[in-house]
Amino acid sequence: MTEFTFGNVTATRIEESYEPNFAAAEFFAEWSPAIVERHRGWMVSDHYDPASGKLKLSVHSWLVKIGGKRVLIDTCVGNHKPRPHRPMWDRMQTPYLERLAAAGVKPEQVDVVMCTHLHVDHIGWNTRLDNGRWVPTFPNAKYIFGRADYDHYLALDRDPKTGPVNGGSFRDSVLPVVEAGLAQMVTGPGALDEHLTYEPAPGHTPGTIAIHLAASGARATFCGDILHHAVQVHHPEWNSFACLDAAQARQSRRKVLEHCAGAGALLMPCHFGAPFVCHVDTEGGRFRPRF
Ligand SMILES: [Zn+2]
Repeated sequence: MTEFTFGNVTATRIEESYEPNFAAAEFFAEWSPAIVERHRGWMVSDHYDPASGKLKLSVHSWLVKIGGKRVLIDTCVGNHKPRPHRPMWDRMQTPYLERLAAAGVKPEQVDVVMCTHLHVDHIGWNTRLDNGRWVPTFPNAKYIFGRADYDHYLALDRDPKTGPVNGGSFRDSVLPVVEAGLAQMVTGPGALDEHLTYEPAPGHTPGTIAIHLAASGARATFCGDILHHAVQVHHPEWNSFACLDAAQARQSRRKVLEHCAGAGALLMPCHFGAPFVCHVDTEGGRFRPRF
């Protein structure tokens, strides 16, 4: 289990999957054999599988324990969810909740769920299947969603030309939480408590938020999909195929990297391969990951 301690705060990685999944050349338009050669030392095989040409992207949550409070950041794909548009995520059955229990937390003990954005692999465990219905997995939690994402995807979901949106995940993993009265939509920067703050970081989606942790002089930033892969630390201008606003996504990525480099904050993404986090150094005007 990957766990980091910041004073009286711990952040634990809760894995859902970690295997080669997306074809690198389809994920990044700029991908090339020369990139693999240049970065082979750190990239193969924790971050890239040369045999298949696929990126090795983890899908995980971060469980943050602050005093007696338990915060879950991003909730992966989820079990039993029909995702025919992505066969690798279709009707998954993983021991995610058992892994959460191994980290000492039962679903009813989660106090806050924070979704960095509302894509299919960040909201799945928001709900679970119960007698044919999708119900909140964490019944005692408040769920924090970016208002701009909610409004954007609600409009697309209601439009018969574009709905159901995000492979159906908005309907089975967001709306039941809203209907249960557990959702709290946020706009602009804000604070959950003295240790956790969030701020808008649009681009990958309109309502993406970056979440910052500060405790006992240590800092970390949970960046969701502002960066998918560590190669983007070297190439912050690279967007993934899933980034909605190219210029904004680049701007938000650069801002997060500058923050991590300047403040010494540990970058804690949702999809980086092992060791799953990195520090960000600057060298000659460029960024470098330090694992
Ligand atoms: Zn993602």
